[in-house]
Amino acid sequence: MSAGLHPWLRAPLQQALATRHAHALLVHGAQDRGPLDFSIALAQAWLCETPRHEREHGLACGRCGGCHLVLERSHPDLRLLVPESLREAAGLPADESGEGSSKTRKPSREIKVDAVRAALEFVGLTPSRAPLKVLLIHPAEEMNAVAANALLKTLEEPPGPMRFVLGCGAPQALLPTIRSRCQMLALPRPPREPALAWLQAQGLQDAAIVLDACGGEPLRALEQAREGRDAEAWRRFPAQVMQGDSAALAGWPLPVLVEALQRLCEDRLRQALGLAPQSFPLLEAPRGALPVDRLIAALTETAAWLRARARHADHPWSAPLAVEALVQRTRAALAARPQPA
Ligand SMILES: [Zn+2]
Repeated sequence: MSAGLHPWLRAPLQQALATRHAHALLVHGAQDRGPLDFSIALAQAWLCETPRHEREHGLACGRCGGCHLVLERSHPDLRLLVPESLREAAGLPADESGEGSSKTRKPSREIKVDAVRAALEFVGLTPSRAPLKVLLIHPAEEMNAVAANALLKTLEEPPGPMRFVLGCGAPQALLPTIRSRCQMLALPRPPREPALAWLQAQGLQDAAIVLDACGGEPLRALEQAREGRDAEAWRRFPAQVMQGDSAALAGWPLPVLVEALQRLCEDRLRQALGLAPQSFPLLEAPRGALPVDRLIAALTETAAWLRARARHADHPWSAPLAVEALVQRTRAALAARPQPA
């Protein structure tokens, strides 16, 4: 399976296999870094049936019976516990219950207590094929408090040879009692060179421009480019904001726009502090000196305002009005002008 793993996850995976031996691991990192793929690859390596010394760096062989069952998601000693909304991404059939859940209903993003209880029954069984069992829960922060509490005791004292992998985007959103029972494993930001090479191999033009604009996260960069926000779009973006051209940005999904505006503010702050911009290297320095104190105050305040908007950015609030407000507010801050009313 390691063949399907993104190249930048290979080194962290080898390292984790060599050094992380706790029975409960908390793998955390932004969704874009692939914590789910990483956790599955980890589970596969533990369940691989080829003797360890015959495998490259302890990674799964990808050929044995155990590996095949993991790849087919039918290994009897592996349970993937994900919300409905992520079943497909996890390689699971869309509908677990077989009740033919209605297509009109949005798949749930929560991990419900019933699902946790069912997984705990799995934990109680003796391993049927491998020397141990693996329960993978992702994203762990989507367990509500009841579900998380149901897990606690078993997480502390599993009944048999057992490994838990909790994938997580935001560890601070987890109950401290869950966090404290796990060994933490942070997925690093993908190093720039392999990320660029990978994007170029996907056929992306001017990959560096898109990668920078997307915070150095290659999966996000590729997704953005495929949705039309390619290098050209990102080159134009700072000027569009500076000119208040919200019509040009009208089609952007709000979460993407909010994040891009945040990055633009950060870059202007960097300029004000005499540093090079990071996300938008072509960002022009403002003509004439801006009052640095006022600029910093305006940008800091606007950054906080954007963060608050980001929390609601996937709600269907009136999009054209929202884009207009976001762009105008950011534009004023970037030029250290008074905020629009
Ligand atoms: Zn194998």
